[in-house]
Amino acid sequence: MAGTLSAVPERGLRRFADVNMAIGLFSVLLLGSLWFYMATKHESGYRETVGAAFRQNSNLAVAYDEHIARTLKGLDSALLFVRHEYRRVGRGLDIARYVDDGVVDGQLFSILSVVDEHGDIVLSSRHFEPTNYADREFFRVHRRGGGDVLYINRPVLGRVSGTWQVPMSRRISKADGSFGGVIVLSVDPGYFARFYQKSDIGALGLVTLVGHDGIARVRRVGNTLDFDVDMSGSSLLRQRAQQEHGEFISPGGSDGARHLVSYRTLREYPLIVAVGTAEQEVLREFMRNRNRDYAMALLVTLVIGAFAAMLMVTLARQRRAREALANSETRFRGTFEQAAIGMAHTSMDRRFLQVNQRLCDMLGYARGELMGRTATDFTHPEDRDSGIRDRQRLLSGEVDSVSAEKRYVRKGGSLLWVNRTVSLVRDAEGRPLYFLRIVEDITERRRLENELRELATTDMLTGLPNRRAFITRLEEEHARIRRFPQQRAAVLMLDIDRFKQVNDTRGHPAGDVVLRHVAELIRKGIREVDACGRLGGEEFAVMLTGAVPAAAVEFAERLRRGIAASAAMHEGCTIGVTVSIGVSALGKDDGSADAALQRADRALYRAKESGRDRVELDAGTAAA
Ligand code: GH3
Ligand code: MG
Ligand code: MG
Repeated sequence: MAGTLSAVPERGLRRFADVNMAIGLFSVLLLGSLWFYMATKHESGYRETVGAAFRQNSNLAVAYDEHIARTLKGLDSALLFVRHEYRRVGRGLDIARYVDDGVVDGQLFSILSVVDEHGDIVLSSRHFEPTNYADREFFRVHRRGGGDVLYINRPVLGRVSGTWQVPMSRRISKADGSFGGVIVLSVDPGYFARFYQKSDIGALGLVTLVGHDGIARVRRVGNTLDFDVDMSGSSLLRQRAQQEHGEFISPGGSDGARHLVSYRTLREYPLIVAVGTAEQEVLREFMRNRNRDYAMALLVTLVIGAFAAMLMVTLARQRRAREALANSETRFRGTFEQAAIGMAHTSMDRRFLQVNQRLCDMLGYARGELMGRTATDFTHPEDRDSGIRDRQRLLSGEVDSVSAEKRYVRKGGSLLWVNRTVSLVRDAEGRPLYFLRIVEDITERRRLENELRELATTDMLTGLPNRRAFITRLEEEHARIRRFPQQRAAVLMLDIDRFKQVNDTRGHPAGDVVLRHVAELIRKGIREVDACGRLGGEEFAVMLTGAVPAAAVEFAERLRRGIAASAAMHEGCTIGVTVSIGVSALGKDDGSADAALQRADRALYRAKESGRDRVELDAGTAAA
């Protein structure tokens, strides 16, 4: 039994753990898939967005490259043309007139000058004060030699203009090839950076034109323009050292903004162009979507997590309830089976659904013989009606349970006194389910009660009803006569004559034998409807139901004669006795039964007075 008890929750526990595990796994799998999908989607979204930005920047860089190359070519053409004219015409050259005539495009540069081999300006497109450029880098570069190429100087603060300028120059060689000076023009570096609008590269976009020398001719980040910036240590230069054209993500300067940069190395000039868009601008839309997606995923995670937790809690509760039910059922079954009293469940049509062993033992039937039969089948016919009444009271809800002492008939026909209690078991909605009968064997108690009752109402010596029992019977009869005045009854008082002598001469035991003998004669003499009793000592009384006085006297005479004619036997000797009898009628006018008894006693007294062994009718009765 213990094994079965512990096995049930253990198995339940394992199954519960399995279900919990399944819920947990399912939730983790679901959420894992969700987050994996999100991560993958964002990874590819990020790559797509960045890729598109790089592609766009790369296109812009190509355009920028071409624009710079075209511009430089235009400027170089101006330098070459003026140098050619200077060689031809000499110092009489009027550059300003070329500009005014449109022969040279003056919009591209701020000033175009011819510098002699000493560094002094000798001709210029604008009015100029005597100025020496011998210390300028472009001058020194050309004086050193190095071929006839366009030299693009790093930005300088113009000595004439006072603003930032990028000098571009070509060497002037004399006829013998020696250094003859420099022809130089100045360009506003901002011009190179104004090629892109904000709509192209965003508010924080980046445009850089940097020389192979690592010096930026111009650098624009957002609205900030910088000139002559040393970028030799920058990631752009490092990238470019490995590849002429390319793209990379700049780590971000002091402002912290990272840029997606595409760069190109100009084919004909020692310059690099770079175009970049700020990562935060490129990714703004993407980040907004990503944050919204993550918030959504977080919400879904919380909902699924809460749902799973709720499911687990609910299951745990259900499991506890199931266990409690199983335990209580086990306990109930144990109680039911091992109870010392009989128990049964009966259906609404009174048939046994379940019976315990004790009830089987009590009724003497095997369990199989009881199942399907009704309790009525085993009830004593006289006690069946009360069972039907009890059932109606239970069904009507008038009472919760009813008890009754009744008789069952055991197998073999013997009687079984039981105290049976029936209660109606209803479901949660109050609908009747079945009856619960509890049956207690009270046969032994009944026997003892009967014995006690006998003891209390019987005279031990003679076996006749004692005085109290007789008086009770007499009072019942008196009550009946009062209810039905035409009914009759008579009372006889008997006293053994000279009984003392029997005791005195034969001994007390002999007296007892005589008492039993007389008692037996009285019992045999009366009818079943009559009653008799020993009132005390050697006095007896008889009540004759329905007897008129004359009939009573006649009966008394017969009794007296019978007693006188017989003798008791004691130790081989016969003992004869006589009795005197007083007779009275029990009438409706008697105040109590005792009154009639007293009148009979008075008549008895007269019988004794008149010589004993005779019958006397009470005077009042005789007169009536
Ligand atoms: P009387 O004819 O006047 O009735 O004379 P009596 O001897 O019967 O008179 P009494 O009523 O005085 O005597 C009754 C006697 O019955 C007295 C008592 O010893 C005797 N007696 C009473 N109860 C018992 C009993 O249970 N057994 C025996 N053996 N004698 C009893
Ligand atoms: Mg007496
Ligand atoms: Mg007597």
